[in-house]
Amino acid sequence: MIEVKNSWFKYKDIEVLRDINVTIKEGESVALIGPNGSGKSTFLKLINGIIFPTEGKYYFNGEEINSKVLGNNNFSKGFHKKVGFVFQNSDAQLFCSNVYEEVAFGLRQMGMDEKEVERRVGDCLRLLDIEDLKDREPYNLSGGEKKRVAIASVLALNPEVLVLDEPMNGIDPKGKNFLRTLLTRLNESGKTIICSTHDFQYVEGVFKRALVFSEDHKIIRDDNYEVVINDTDFLVQYNIK
Ligand code: ADP
Ligand code: MG
Repeated sequence: MIEVKNSWFKYKDIEVLRDINVTIKEGESVALIGPNGSGKSTFLKLINGIIFPTEGKYYFNGEEINSKVLGNNNFSKGFHKKVGFVFQNSDAQLFCSNVYEEVAFGLRQMGMDEKEVERRVGDCLRLLDIEDLKDREPYNLSGGEKKRVAIASVLALNPEVLVLDEPMNGIDPKGKNFLRTLLTRLNESGKTIICSTHDFQYVEGVFKRALVFSEDHKIIRDDNYEVVINDTDFLVQYNIK
């Protein structure tokens, strides 16, 4: 489904991803772990077609993703419908005047009729347990509430792949437990989950695979998630724990 081949990424002349080779199959649940600045967010932006490899290739379902194909409006809509991205900073994702409009926005962009929009928004508000918030202004919500709204707006499009950048950041324990259960259920229902995290305590049972990024911006380990997080010597050696 996802194939990143010999990919490098640079901001000006600073390398932030070095020779990345990763294949992710449909239905996987993958955690990205690694110290701050190792390149996790950059990798997720690449998966979402926000940036493109400076060298190397990224294929989604066999199709190369680059600025040229995403310049095609139809292709771009189709791609962004299949791959949903929950930003690290919810404020960068939420811009509508109320929660209902926020969750409906992407559906309307896709040209869906209002009856179906209403049904899907209702489903997603229920799934995230935020029906009570539907008339609230996203801007004034708490961090945890904003995160739920952002996830609802992404799930509304029913993406095949759900990509999340540090979703547990700034969320209280109850919210984290809710998110953990939600991610597990979504993966069980067939969605591919790719998620950066360093909140190991609250993601128990969510991931089967871990990609470990090092301070020098490489993937140094690609392994069973449980095996990696229980390898304390390794985590300490690479400044992850
Ligand atoms: P992580 O998510 O693992 O903390 P990032 O992918 O955010 O790491 O960042 C990787 C590196 O890229 C860091 O050294 C960071 O300073 C740098 N970086 C991120 N965004 C930019 C940018 N817009 N311009 C220049 N450097 C950036
Ligand atoms: Mg990051």
